[in-house]
Amino acid sequence: MTNFRAVVVDKAESGQTVEMRSVDDAFLMEGDVTLRVTRSTVNYKDGLAITGKSPVVRRFPMIPGIDMAGVVEHSSNPGFKPGDEVILNGFGVGETHLGAYAERARVKGDWLLHKPEGLSAAECMAVGTAGYTAMLAVIALEKHGLKPSDGPVLVTGAAGGVGSVAVALLSKLGWHVVASTGRASEADYLKTLGAAEIIDRNELSAPGRPLAKERWAAGVDSVGSHTLVNALAQTKYRGAIAACGLAQGMDLPGSVAPFILRGVSLLGIDSVYQPKPVREEAWKRLAQDLDRAKLAAITTTVPFDAVIETARGILDGKIRGRVVVEIG
Ligand code: NDP
Repeated sequence: MTNFRAVVVDKAESGQTVEMRSVDDAFLMEGDVTLRVTRSTVNYKDGLAITGKSPVVRRFPMIPGIDMAGVVEHSSNPGFKPGDEVILNGFGVGETHLGAYAERARVKGDWLLHKPEGLSAAECMAVGTAGYTAMLAVIALEKHGLKPSDGPVLVTGAAGGVGSVAVALLSKLGWHVVASTGRASEADYLKTLGAAEIIDRNELSAPGRPLAKERWAAGVDSVGSHTLVNALAQTKYRGAIAACGLAQGMDLPGSVAPFILRGVSLLGIDSVYQPKPVREEAWKRLAQDLDRAKLAAITTTVPFDAVIETARGILDGKIRGRVVVEIG
């Protein structure tokens, strides 16, 4: 029986608790692949899981952490063998199945991908669910038929994880990127990533008109609520917004006017349960279309011991871009 360190979230009478402690293999849940976890990352959802601010954790005790990179130690899954380098995003890991903030994990092989060619394990975790979601959003806009010559693209929550990767990807693909942020101090950072224009998020966050002047052909929205409604109201004829987040709110307090008068589309993006071919396509595109120097510029690395504090910080809007957690 191997002992290893894990972040464990549990329920107590006083509320949710979280601590780093030693557990052993018997603590792990069922799965056909056991991994040595080498790295993870901190997403907004991980912040919610660790603080208990939203009911992300649906099984107690839980090891949070929705993204992992690791090396296979044991496998009864025909797709994986000991020594394989693998990554995992989603599938309820860190929510209903014990997650990534541990030196070991046991998961279903069906949830894993081999580490994509051209990206290191650290780069995969720098991308993480946030960057993978940004890629899914970009692919959704492309599948809708949108291209840079149709007009600008809006990215909301631009200095966050999804936003930063979306700005870097879209600018590399030739889009004129309008980055919406509440952090004026991050303007230079966003321009370095490829933003052509920076707007104050207050322009979009208050209740607005059902239809407004057409400003962009497409958008990637990680904010929701009034911001998403205003983004839709300012989208050009036949444009689309890919919606993936709720940093402002889960509500959608708007009207159908953009849909029925401008043929605007709202494209929903979920990163958790995408089928394998979609995951593989997104990771291949990330290896191809994400500028490695920009990825390095948006990434900070923290030791495993700092993961709880970092996860709290992301909810306070204190984290810029992406964080890699060094585990093993
Ligand atoms: P981050 O915290 O890194 O980024 C969120 C950004 O949103 C912040 O940096 C900030 O950007 C902006 N923001 C925060 N609060 C507000 C507010 N009240 N009003 C307007 N803007 C705000 O989180 P992630 O990038 O990791 O995730 C972003 C969102 O996407 C989250 O809601 C997350 O749950 C969701 N998500 C959904 C996924 C899916 O599968 N659909 C997958 C991954 C994430 P700035 O400082 O630039 O203003």
